[in-house]
Amino acid sequence: MAEKIVTESNNNPTIDGFHLVIEALKLNDIHTIFGLPGIPITDLTRMAQAEGMRVISFRHEQHAGNAAAAAGFLTQKPGICLTVSAPGFLNGLTSLANATVNCFPMILISGSSEREIVDLQQGDYEEMDQLAIAKPLCKAAYRVLHAQDIGVGIARAIRSAVSGRPGGVYLDFPAKLFSQTMDALDGRQSLIKVVDPAPRQIPAADAVQRALDLLKSAKRPLILLGKGAAYAQADADILSLVEKTGIPYLPMSMAKGLLPDTHPQSASAARSYVLAEADVVMLVGARLNWLLSHGKGKTWGAPNAKQFIQIDIEPKEIDSNVAIAAPLIGDIGSCVSALLAGMGSNWTKPPLEWTKGIFERKEKNLSKMAATLALNPSPMNFHSALAVVRNMVAARPDIMVINEGANTLDFTRSIVDMYEPRKRLDVGTWGIMGIGMGFAVAAAVVTNKPVIAIEGDSAFGFSGMEIETICRYNLPVCVVVFNNNGVYGGMDVNTSGGNDVAPTVFVKGARYDKIIEAFGGVGVHATNPHELSVALHEAISSGRPTLINAVIDESAGTESGRITKLNPQAASKT
Ligand code: ADP
Repeated sequence: MAEKIVTESNNNPTIDGFHLVIEALKLNDIHTIFGLPGIPITDLTRMAQAEGMRVISFRHEQHAGNAAAAAGFLTQKPGICLTVSAPGFLNGLTSLANATVNCFPMILISGSSEREIVDLQQGDYEEMDQLAIAKPLCKAAYRVLHAQDIGVGIARAIRSAVSGRPGGVYLDFPAKLFSQTMDALDGRQSLIKVVDPAPRQIPAADAVQRALDLLKSAKRPLILLGKGAAYAQADADILSLVEKTGIPYLPMSMAKGLLPDTHPQSASAARSYVLAEADVVMLVGARLNWLLSHGKGKTWGAPNAKQFIQIDIEPKEIDSNVAIAAPLIGDIGSCVSALLAGMGSNWTKPPLEWTKGIFERKEKNLSKMAATLALNPSPMNFHSALAVVRNMVAARPDIMVINEGANTLDFTRSIVDMYEPRKRLDVGTWGIMGIGMGFAVAAAVVTNKPVIAIEGDSAFGFSGMEIETICRYNLPVCVVVFNNNGVYGGMDVNTSGGNDVAPTVFVKGARYDKIIEAFGGVGVHATNPHELSVALHEAISSGRPTLINAVIDESAGTESGRITKLNPQAASKT
């Protein structure tokens, strides 16, 4: 342990709050901080780096927070985001709330102003009662006032973030805490190495049996894998469960690659059919929220014709939208292995009538898609551009894919096959824009693999300045901006007759590729699939930060992609 100790006149070595924080994190095997320096945490970033931690400095806290959240999802350890007080804290808060909604473990550590002044509202520098504001937006929130409590505070934050349903935790460190000193030995002894931070939760035997009985009774069973299944890192058992049961499966977007999208049991290309027709659906780490039409309505076929098994670590999730006939509460690893153990050796695979029907629909849809992907329209459309990305990922399945936008999101999700677990990070449960560059940085830092960020031009705008961060750390990130001149597209008109362009329209023919050149990265303007392909291959093989401005037909795609119905005006017409 480094001896960064202040020596006082009585010669007893002391340690300050800065170093207690750093040592507490390192003791818990946390070696990376995503953040943005400023008062009062600038020295913490310097000292953390001096003590061997990786400190990735961003240009805006929201992106540092998104990086921390993505790191949490990828590693099962809480990602750390460090921000300054009030405004920096608020910037980080969006990502903390988003992490919580997505069940990603992260800890937002913010410096804050002095309690005495904040509580009397006497107008301190960046005064704000941050703890009170953070509390309703995350899983847990703590404030540490005394150096001797830093160890406990960090231990509680880690446990809260990763145990049970993972989520975001807020940790409030008032400025004065950092310079407090205490006896070095006492200080170090006050630190806690968290033992078994995410304890396994073993499902009850009767719940396992109930789930198996229901699954066995099904004529048209379906397994639905969500990002909780990806998070759980029970990849081999999930693969076994799917293959041994022979049940068709659907991956939610961030569960893509848990089994290769080309797996014969994947029902992705027959999604509407299987959702409507299945009689028993087993949800594995997936919620019946808006992304699954709340488990009811047209998407799910005839009313009351379906029964659900739900594997989840959070008991309160059960029955949140529709009745769950067989809840299986526990961590996914334990639940899936219990199911495998309980299946026995003479499991009967689903009726051929069901699997054959899916196969036929799948083949039809896949050949339709192949025909569309083979077209080469000018200008490029989403399909012809994404065919290039699809081939790239097929050739290099270890590539991390980041994806945000409206049409850019929807088309990428269905066109670009994933082959390995946790290789796809996207807008998640909220469908939030702005995760792009933060997630891309985290993906590169955590995995050391090449990253392709497929960005709508609007989505890119939210975090575009982090291109400098990507260049500064020389990360192997290739950003492809799908540039169709606006939010959804560039065709909207101002119906008032005024001079302003319509609210959804951007500067036409913008050259996003020029932005990265300002920071020494590679910018490429690609107007056809060949140019895009050459640039993408070059970016992946060189590992240099690259931004490809992919020019897409501004009339391609639809308003809001696949969620047009959520626009009030469109909804009123349907
Ligand atoms: P998707 O958006 O892919 O459908 P959701 O985020 O809606 O996925 O659902 C993820 C679910 O997985 C959450 O309900 C969460 O409680 C659960 N979950 C997360 N980690 C685990 C785990 N290790 N074991 C069991 N359930 C988990």
